[in-house]
Amino acid sequence: FNEIPTGFPEPGKTTIYDEYQTIDLSSAPLNGGVLVKILVVSIDPYLRGKMRDASIKSYSPAFVPGEPISNHGVGVVLRSENANVKQGDHLYGFYNFQEYAVLPNIDNFRILKNEEKLPWAAYVGVVGMPGQTAWTGWKEYAAPQKDDVVFVTAGSGPVGSFVIQLAKLHGLKVIASAGSDDKVAFIKSIGADVAFNYKTTSTWDVLKEQGPINIYWDNVGGETLDAALFNAAKGARFIECGMISQYNSAPYTLKHLMTIVGKELHLHGFIVGTLMPKYRDEFYREVPGKVARGEIKYIEDAKKGLEWAGHAILEVQQGKNHGKSVVIVNEE
Ligand code: NDP
Repeated sequence: FNEIPTGFPEPGKTTIYDEYQTIDLSSAPLNGGVLVKILVVSIDPYLRGKMRDASIKSYSPAFVPGEPISNHGVGVVLRSENANVKQGDHLYGFYNFQEYAVLPNIDNFRILKNEEKLPWAAYVGVVGMPGQTAWTGWKEYAAPQKDDVVFVTAGSGPVGSFVIQLAKLHGLKVIASAGSDDKVAFIKSIGADVAFNYKTTSTWDVLKEQGPINIYWDNVGGETLDAALFNAAKGARFIECGMISQYNSAPYTLKHLMTIVGKELHLHGFIVGTLMPKYRDEFYREVPGKVARGEIKYIEDAKKGLEWAGHAILEVQQGKNHGKSVVIVNEE
């Protein structure tokens, strides 16, 4: 991480790819720790929020200029001096964006059994933090009722596409939006009843015609949230997961907040890490199998090589990713 951006994060300016040092993997001292080869790291929208002045407090610490970017990843153990983990084990947790890491301990890492033989990258996507976001937020706040109408934004991404499929498992009518015709085709393929490109079709018009909505899964905020407030049914649940339309620009001022009162709306903001302790066991028990059996589908946008990390971060903010954005750091 090089410097705090004012708008979109620029590869080569906001983030720099460089080589710090090379190490001898066979002799690097572990001091009781674990040497890991990192296989894949996740690129998520919230990384933009970490590119801020450290004095601004938020739920996730700010990146430090001059220090590596970090995020969820999966690595394979090459050598271990820790009795709880052995060579060949795969560890899911937070990694600096680098090729190899010596972990002093594995307290915050999960040893992945992967009995379903999913690709390791799935463990940072549909079976990782974004999938957990969809699963926990939906279970905690959706309260689905028969004949509910659900609206999902950023519908082709790892969070939105999972939510669409959860809503369809309940047999609900799903309206979903995305920013390109290819993405719209994907969200139709996973079952959305009404799918539209919000850049070429008015969200207001679609919600007026297809609503009112009982559940709004908000990934984008801004004017779309206004349209959802205006077209909400009485007692609708708003699951405030993200507001990516606001991450790189000046805030939009909502015009229809008053509807919260008259329509007795329920607004639930949440952060996945807060809900996960409640749902972790259930998630890892149920979701890998559902993915392996094709009951939950996903698409991935993989770049090969850490030198592409800065580009991948920018593309997610611009909506140019088609599916879960990951960087393959090393082949197994
Ligand atoms: P995606 O892979 O879907 O990437 C984000 C997508 O947002 C882009 O591909 C783009 O798709 C869309 N987008 C970008 N800019 C805009 C804009 N101005 N207006 C509308 N859409 C835009 O991301 P995820 O599935 O990983 O995350 C989805 C949301 O969930 C994000 O808001 C993220 O911050 C949030 N999140 C929240 C968590 C929590 O704990 N609360 C945890 C994880 C994610 P398109 O082409 O369709 O515009």
